[in-house]
Amino acid sequence: MAKKATPKKPGKSSKYVYFFGNGKADGNRSMRDTLGGKGAGLAEMSRAGLPVPPGFTISTDVCSLYYKQKGKIPSAVDAQIAENIRKLEKAAAATFGSTSNPLLVSVRSGAKFSMPGMMDTILNLGLNDAAVEGLKVRTSNGRFAFDSYRRFMQMFGSVVLEIPKDVFEREFEAVKHAKGVALDTDLDEQALREVVQRYKKVIRDGAKRDFPQEPREQLTMARDAVFRSWMNPRAQEYRRIYDIPDHIGTAVNVQMMVFGNTGDRSATGVGFTRNPATGAREFYGEFLVNAQGEDVVAGIRTPQPIAELEKVLPTAYRQLRDITTRLERNYKDIQDFEFTIQDERLFMLQTRSGKRTGYAAVIIATDFVAERLITPKEAILQIDPESLSQLLAPGFDQQEWGKIPVATRGLPASPGAASGQVVFSADDAVQWSDQGKPVILVRRETVPDDIRGMFVAQGVLTATGGMTSHAAVVGRQMGKPSIVGAAALEVDEDGRTCSVNGHMIREGDFVSFDGLTGEVKLAKVASKPSEILQVLHGQLEPKKSDIYRRFKQILTWSDKYRRMGVRANADQPDQAELAYAFGARGIGLCRTEHMFFGEGRIPIVQRMILADNETDRRAALAELLPLQREDFYGVFKAMHGEPVTIRTIDPPLHEFLPKREELMVEIARLEARPHGVDELETKLALLRRVEQLHEFNPMLGHRGVRLGITYPEITEMQTRAIMEAACRLAKEGLKVTPEIMIPLVGHVKELRDQKAVVNRVAAEVMKEQGVRVKYLVGTMIEVPRGAMTADEIATEAEFFSFGTNDLTQMTFGFSRDDIGKFLRVYQDKKILDKDPFATFDVDGVGPVLRTGVELGRRARPGLKMGVCGEHGGDPSSIHFFEKVGLDYVSCSPYRVPVARLAAAQAALDVKVGD
Ligand code: ADP
Ligand code: MG
Ligand code: MG
Repeated sequence: MAKKATPKKPGKSSKYVYFFGNGKADGNRSMRDTLGGKGAGLAEMSRAGLPVPPGFTISTDVCSLYYKQKGKIPSAVDAQIAENIRKLEKAAAATFGSTSNPLLVSVRSGAKFSMPGMMDTILNLGLNDAAVEGLKVRTSNGRFAFDSYRRFMQMFGSVVLEIPKDVFEREFEAVKHAKGVALDTDLDEQALREVVQRYKKVIRDGAKRDFPQEPREQLTMARDAVFRSWMNPRAQEYRRIYDIPDHIGTAVNVQMMVFGNTGDRSATGVGFTRNPATGAREFYGEFLVNAQGEDVVAGIRTPQPIAELEKVLPTAYRQLRDITTRLERNYKDIQDFEFTIQDERLFMLQTRSGKRTGYAAVIIATDFVAERLITPKEAILQIDPESLSQLLAPGFDQQEWGKIPVATRGLPASPGAASGQVVFSADDAVQWSDQGKPVILVRRETVPDDIRGMFVAQGVLTATGGMTSHAAVVGRQMGKPSIVGAAALEVDEDGRTCSVNGHMIREGDFVSFDGLTGEVKLAKVASKPSEILQVLHGQLEPKKSDIYRRFKQILTWSDKYRRMGVRANADQPDQAELAYAFGARGIGLCRTEHMFFGEGRIPIVQRMILADNETDRRAALAELLPLQREDFYGVFKAMHGEPVTIRTIDPPLHEFLPKREELMVEIARLEARPHGVDELETKLALLRRVEQLHEFNPMLGHRGVRLGITYPEITEMQTRAIMEAACRLAKEGLKVTPEIMIPLVGHVKELRDQKAVVNRVAAEVMKEQGVRVKYLVGTMIEVPRGAMTADEIATEAEFFSFGTNDLTQMTFGFSRDDIGKFLRVYQDKKILDKDPFATFDVDGVGPVLRTGVELGRRARPGLKMGVCGEHGGDPSSIHFFEKVGLDYVSCSPYRVPVARLAAAQAALDVKVGD
């Protein structure tokens, strides 16, 4: 998703500041790289003649300069800002720093990708001791003037001067307490004047300076604070999770203030053109009368549903509906908007594409096509492929769920069934889930710092906040089941307990909830497969499931546009069936050793390994043969004639034996008690073999093709099992396409050796069976030497499959089983952005793979090439595979829908020769 911004050279002629207002704008919606999402939206709305308070956007380039020049802003930029302030004063008919008619502005952060709550915004900037009196006279509203001033001081004090928010909160509460009021709207002018006095002292004590009275100084300081907030830890964490690069920077928007806090004819609110949780076509949102800015999302007062605005302020409501409907049609996407009504006059403050759940994404895109707002191609490009995997997430068994009483209800912020043990902090959530425990993160309300905990939790439950609160927005985006505003919950985060209607919940207790209905229950409840899986498993009729039909529709559209094939990695017949149902056309990797772990098989495998001569080994292999043959028969059949790539044995043999330490303990235990001689003898023999097989570096040890070369009888048995199964199917009149794949080849002679074995046995089997089956012998390219000599290898190989897990491991020299120990540090130190085992490393492993592709095709034109490994199901990696022209990707069955959509997006995005 992240593209690199085109770096601009700083210079006198460069444009750094973009004005908007009075039906015109220097920028437009396509300039998100320069203006950020918020700035581009404000420019676009201004151009469209919508009521947007005028202002200007300081571009993201200035943020880059700020960091490059260690906090100094070039004078050319300052000059452009000064010029735009003059322009804004004219448009607003007010003057910066004037005591009789002061211009007040907001200073708003806004990057290319929206990062809810991650950076900071300051409202009412321009106020000072004199201007506040002027504002009072002008509006004949002293309460309003001082309410605006105290808000400004608090935001400025915390964001710019970095004084903790709660220091201000404490003073505010103290005044409320002294006046005996509960709501901030109940404080009168006199009380608010006192708050201002107290805040001044807080600032003097905390910042060792007076609150700055000069508006231009306020503005410069606020601007730089917004730039600094780009690098705050929670913003960095957010970008890491969502793959947003650090270098793109944020823009700063300076905009004339409008006021939702002038009284009962004023309000502020946020909304969506459609329901972002369910996708339903309904106007959706919340508002507060007599409030400003973040009050709605901050959960200070409980907001009203937007439908009620129609009764309170009908004219503004109708205008809002009209404007937002137009915005949706204009952007061809669901819009998430902010508005303020000042004395019955509507102002639009923001519009952007709404974050939505995967479920809603599918509903909305298919509805848009039905409404002829977009084409199927546009629908495909609009849906984040991960949405499809969210649709496969489990729900509760309604029967079991129905038996348990509802403990409380909250707002259904993000759908999905969640069940787990309660924790009360993000840190605990991370710790517990590291121990493999499912957790539910319960908070009074979440703050942006909680994001790591939310990420690992099964679900998030909060006591306060509305449908557009932080927890709700982030939950929907992550596809994390979330319920917010469960007001009956009394959460004591420090005491690690919470109570709900008289029931006590302690840390570690089980709680379950349904993010679609908002019901919370105090029990552990098993979940059940999603509707889509029920349809695929034949438990639900397709026509009874609306979501299944839409899911299928999107995939059918995707198939029309994608070039690459999509296969699955599946080892067993049932997995292969599921993969086929998900649309996989072929198996890209069938790991035969996984079959060795099947029931009752391990002892046979161990006998094979323990054999110290070929005869004994062959005897054990003969026992395995019919079992493998059955498995292959099932996998072939499930694939209905599509190609099935079967890899010969790959892991080091000791993986099939017990651990050395465990054996020693068992032997000690046997010796201490009466025991059968045989039993002890077997264990001792095992231990001896385990010690023989011990390797210092098993991943680089005796595995893959090296096993087949030293024990050809294993390759023989596996080939026999594959070909006997294939011949049987052929005799039954079914089509089969076996592809036998030799792993870990780094030298052409390794492959030549094994290919001879395979061909010899295959010929034998076909002769015995009296039938011919077309099969291919190919190799995995996963050792760098294999890629660098792919032209030689291609003289033997009839296909390539890039094993990107091992290729990454061996190119980086990172053990994929041990990277967890240092990856986090690497990411914190910005050495690596992403886990290269999850997202293919285009820069370093990419050229190795590309060399393999080019050399392979040069030696054998038309050579079939695919990729198997975790990257085959990762959208951004798929993009790269499209670029290098692979024929297919192969991924786990559950990722197949994601891969189909991602492959279509990649094909639409990648131009030939890119
Ligand atoms: P965020 O990105 O966190 O939403 P915003 O910059 O959008 O931050 O602003 C925070 C809040 O302040 C929003 O509710 C917004 O509508 C409000 N706000 C911002 N600028 C103005 C303005 N010029 N007049 C009135 N309200 C504003
Ligand atoms: Mg903000
Ligand atoms: Mg906003």
